[in-house]
Amino acid sequence: AKREGRGRAEIYTDALALEAQDRAELERDLLMGLQRDEFLLEFQPQVDALTGRAVAAEALVRWAHPERDLVLPPAFVPLAEESGAIVALGDWVMGRVCETAARWAEAGMDHRIAINVSARELGQPDFFLRLRHAMAAQGAPPAMLELEITESLAMDMEPRVLDQLAALRADGVAVAIDDFGTGYSNLARLKELPVDRVKIDHSLVRDIVTSAQARTICSAVVGLIQGLGLQVVVEGVESQAQMDMLRVLGCTLFQGYHLARPMNEDAYLARYAAPDAD
Ligand code: C2E
Ligand code: CA
Ligand code: CA
Ligand code: CA
Repeated sequence: AKREGRGRAEIYTDALALEAQDRAELERDLLMGLQRDEFLLEFQPQVDALTGRAVAAEALVRWAHPERDLVLPPAFVPLAEESGAIVALGDWVMGRVCETAARWAEAGMDHRIAINVSARELGQPDFFLRLRHAMAAQGAPPAMLELEITESLAMDMEPRVLDQLAALRADGVAVAIDDFGTGYSNLARLKELPVDRVKIDHSLVRDIVTSAQARTICSAVVGLIQGLGLQVVVEGVESQAQMDMLRVLGCTLFQGYHLARPMNEDAYLARYAAPDAD
């Protein structure tokens, strides 16, 4: 028992040490990776179930780390937020999204591309200026862009940020509340935010097929958002049964593995750039 206990303790310590080393190393690698152009974007469609067509694509960053498999955001975005490297990473994402949006518009596509914006980025006094510069530099039409701001962040925005967001929206950029249902929304405030859409978090959707209670909650949230005149996008849809249920609840816009996984631009265009039918 003693040996077993020590063995466990050693493993535990090793794991922590490894984690600590990983953190410092990861942060260094991240800034280096930006310089070396190791990041890439994947796109996941938001599909209108009525037409079967994509209306927007969410841009999701990935890191082609030279010594790892493709690294997904949960492994580096939180760290990048803590260290501030997210600002540089976010600039890169903005630039790439604007460049892509300009090309898509040129090709006659009308899907918006959504950018995830973190708290740290939105807190930069020149965030909106940099976004506008990226749009202008790349020639990205505002109507091709969307910003995703998490519910908790959205509830916390200062008047200055709200004004800038409203101005951007007046110019044609769409604004979505992300991960809705995970925070503690002030519903009166939700009504006053300059937003177009609300993305319902997958945690609200997970059990709707099997649990009447989950269904009731989801239905109430959908009704609330639609009642405020906002569009609902449901995230994390993983099965046809979920989608059928959500359609009964009045949802039409869906994002999730059941429709498509995030994919590279070529795959996205091959699948969702509609041939000019009319
Ligand atoms: P998010 O904004 O909520 O993005 C949706 C996440 O859910 C993505 O994970 C996506 O791949 C995943 N997903 C899509 N469909 C399904 C599904 O049916 N089931 C499940 N279980 N998951 C699904 P990903 O790409 O790992 O990104 C994780 C988070 O990292 C994002 O969550 C977002 O908060 C953040 N993130 C991603 N790209 C960026 C970025 O460019 N900038 C910033 N600041 N954050 C980013
Ligand atoms: Ca993104
Ligand atoms: Ca998002
Ligand atoms: Ca989300």
